[in-house]
Amino acid sequence: MSEPVVVVGAGPAGLMLACELAMRDVPAVLVDPHPAQRLEAPAMAINAGTLELLDQRGLADGLREGTVTFPEVRFADLPLAFDKVPGPREATHMVLQSRLEKTLIDRALELGVDLRWGTRLTGFEQAPDGSRVTAVLVSDSGEERLTCRYLVGCDGRDSLVREGAGIDYVGDDWVIVRGIVGDVAIDRADVAPEQYGLSYTPNGDQFLGAPLNPGTMRVFSAEFTTRPPEFEDGPATLEQLGAVVRRLTGTELKATEAHWLRHYSIITRNAERYREGRVFLAGDAAHVHYPYNGQGIGTAVGDAVNLGWKIAAEVHGWAPEGLLDTYHEERHAAGRMACMNIQAQLALLYPRALARYMREMLAEFLTFDDVNVFLAELVTNLGPAVPMRYEGFPEPPERDRLLGRRLPRARVKTASGEVAVAETLHGGRGVLLDLSGHTGGPDVDGWTDRVDVVRAQPVADWPATLLLRPDGCVAWHDGAGWGEDVLRAALTTWFGAATG
Ligand SMILES: Cc1cc2nc3c(=O)[nH]c(=O)nc-3n(C[C@H](O)[C@H](O)[C@H](O)COP(=O)(O)OP(=O)(O)OC[C@H]3O[C@@H](n4cnc5c(N)ncnc54)[C@H](O)[C@@H]3O)c2cc1C
Repeated sequence: MSEPVVVVGAGPAGLMLACELAMRDVPAVLVDPHPAQRLEAPAMAINAGTLELLDQRGLADGLREGTVTFPEVRFADLPLAFDKVPGPREATHMVLQSRLEKTLIDRALELGVDLRWGTRLTGFEQAPDGSRVTAVLVSDSGEERLTCRYLVGCDGRDSLVREGAGIDYVGDDWVIVRGIVGDVAIDRADVAPEQYGLSYTPNGDQFLGAPLNPGTMRVFSAEFTTRPPEFEDGPATLEQLGAVVRRLTGTELKATEAHWLRHYSIITRNAERYREGRVFLAGDAAHVHYPYNGQGIGTAVGDAVNLGWKIAAEVHGWAPEGLLDTYHEERHAAGRMACMNIQAQLALLYPRALARYMREMLAEFLTFDDVNVFLAELVTNLGPAVPMRYEGFPEPPERDRLLGRRLPRARVKTASGEVAVAETLHGGRGVLLDLSGHTGGPDVDGWTDRVDVVRAQPVADWPATLLLRPDGCVAWHDGAGWGEDVLRAALTTWFGAATG
């Protein structure tokens, strides 16, 4: 067996990445100091971008079941017209992070990921010749030095991998969000109306109470401040929560027990580099921001899906030169856009009195469809598009709606029946989607070991042929004024040289 890839941290980023590697027969060792799956995972909502990525691997159906969808997408609490985003697209779903992580853990085990709970990375070293990395792993059985091809830090905001690689975490703290999150036992009859759903104080501070089942409520408070947080992140008490609820809603919380409660504080940071030699960063280790609109998990899973196939291409020896560097180029830009839009949302929320005129102004801007669609796609991780340019060929039209994005949810009719476009990506390979309706369309001779061809009936308003990368990103289509010569360039750029 070849040397594994060590993935540090079994949160959404690490779990998804380990699955992306293992599905392509890349041995993955996933380590996390928790003795088993953690219960204390704070997120409640996953957005369109996350669900689409999961759908491409056959993981979304189970998560959609029995959940509620959020009727609106908001920017700084101003409603966006999500139905104007060309679609159909997924809605934001209320899915607890623990449920998402359980789905990914099950999948990882099924795929043969070597998942080691109770194991912490305490250090690592890159070989001077750049050929490998040695990870130092500590568990109850002692210390192990494991040689690996790549090391990926998915170890969250306080990432040891980022620190060890000497990568700066860049950002500013002009506003900090702090609060308490957790699950409490409370009789439904004891919940005050002010404690249900999302409420705001005149200052813009927030409290959310969401029933998880008849006796349990998820609680979440967010208070904006320009001062460093009063509490360090860590366990919180029912008394502390009671004081917060009183301050934010003016009501008494009648919870009888805390299943788990934590203080949290949020800063905004984007790592300077997402790669240092054979070491990569993904998820909160690479970027952290207030998790508005499900962008926390959206960006984390987005990183994992972008990186997984590129590492696999290197391991299997077909990666074109520079492919792994495109991870930083594409995902650092996505991290920057996430930090930027969230800082802008915070500026529109706090302090509320000062933000009033900017809010009124933005509400006017949102009546322009282009502005509305741009923001709706950005905050749901449907955007920004990855630039697709091929040297020596004309640039695609600026307003191309397909290049560098995933296709909307659609089903296509093939000779053997109807299939969702997302399903064509379940194998994790590239796909040439030939919707010309005849058999003589372009082919991928020379790349058939890396790219599948799916021939189907035409779809209204879509080009006749599209090339999808393994992460679902449209890399080429023949409606961009590009012919088969550019298709060959796109295949070489993303899948390496033709064989045979
Ligand atoms: C209060 C709150 C509410 C949120 N709500 C939402 C929401 O509704 N929707 C949303 O999308 N996002 C939300 N988020 C953000 C979301 O939780 C994070 O963005 C997401 O968990 C990031 O995933 P990750 O895998 O990058 O890191 P993490 O989830 O932080 O996981 C990192 C893992 O690394 C492990 N680790 C750390 N150090 C080491 C080490 N040395 N060795 C081995 N393992 C290590 C940790 O044990 C941990 O399991 C919320 C965040 C907070 C604080």
